[in-house]
Amino acid sequence: HNGKNPFAGNEFYLNPYYVDEVDKAIAQMSDSSLIAKAEKMKTYSNAIWLDTIKNMQTWLETNLKGALAQQQSTGSNVLTVFVVYDLPGRDCHALASNGELLANDGDLARYKSEYIDVIEEKLKYYKSQPVVLIIEPDSLANLVTNLDSTPACRDSEKYYLDGHAYLIKKFGVLDHVAMYLDIGHAFWLGWDDNREKAAKVYSKVISSGSPGQVRGFTDNVANYTPWEDPTLSRGPDTEWNPCPDEKRYLEAMHKDFKAAGIKSVYFVCDTSRNGHKTDRKHPGEWCNQTGVGVGARPQASPISSMDYLDAFYWIKPLGESDGTSDTSAVRYDGYCGHDTAMKPAPEAGQWFQKHFEQGLENANPPL
Ligand code: BGC
Repeated sequence: HNGKNPFAGNEFYLNPYYVDEVDKAIAQMSDSSLIAKAEKMKTYSNAIWLDTIKNMQTWLETNLKGALAQQQSTGSNVLTVFVVYDLPGRDCHALASNGELLANDGDLARYKSEYIDVIEEKLKYYKSQPVVLIIEPDSLANLVTNLDSTPACRDSEKYYLDGHAYLIKKFGVLDHVAMYLDIGHAFWLGWDDNREKAAKVYSKVISSGSPGQVRGFTDNVANYTPWEDPTLSRGPDTEWNPCPDEKRYLEAMHKDFKAAGIKSVYFVCDTSRNGHKTDRKHPGEWCNQTGVGVGARPQASPISSMDYLDAFYWIKPLGESDGTSDTSAVRYDGYCGHDTAMKPAPEAGQWFQKHFEQGLENANPPL
């Protein structure tokens, strides 16, 4: 199964939960040109986040069933994309998306038995349809750069590693399932020393899940880095980052990961919110950026000269918040209070109408 791009030749499943969110957003709008843009959003596929055990129980099987029904009625294969996102000690370097499971042995056991095993069981049952799993955004990238600076990441390290080994063994042997591990984005792991460390971490993690197979990697998940930005080059403005956009980042990562002996190196870039240059002062800003604009539409093999780019796809749903701006909230992260973060913002994952509307207006290409 790893020999084939899972996005190519398949229909993409439309997430009914997102369609519903957009319908509610439209009910609050009066400008007819904005409404027309919002209507178009309902025709594009995006990923379904299994961000708690409860949400996994609610959304995994319903959507697998929905995709199967669509497949049976149209006669073409229907691809569903899920984000696996519940590791113990989740979001160790920030606060906005801290998860329900903590970095301890008991919660790791729960992650395995109440979360990963249940997903595996359902995937095995719905075996006639293609599924992509985006694995634990930000987790391994935090192990590459944040162990020294952040005690919480040191506490999480063994759970992130053990969790990955476990899930790769389970999901990576299923023929209809393709997995992508998350590699952050250009302004996180793009620097030479970070890429070098990353190649070691990711190749080790993949071997630890043997005989399970990994198809490739996702970049820019829930981030804002443009696909191409010819105005930037390596220099003081980019803190000497040789990979100042996602395209150059993937070109470099492809080379480095291949050189490190990783066999299957394909990428999916999240383009849900990277169409417009945001107003962020520093490209490391990640929370609810003002100036947001929808990026390239979901599509398989979008760049003919990059045969290792499986897809542009929308992983973070535009309109769902990155984190609360309420300074008294437990999950308040300082980044969500920065100048370039739009405020007031609801909790991560909750609907953020103003951010959604701005994303529609700034869409590039236009909606
Ligand atoms: C949140 C999740 C949410 C996802 C998609 C993440 O930032 O932590 O709870 O499901 O975004 O909006």
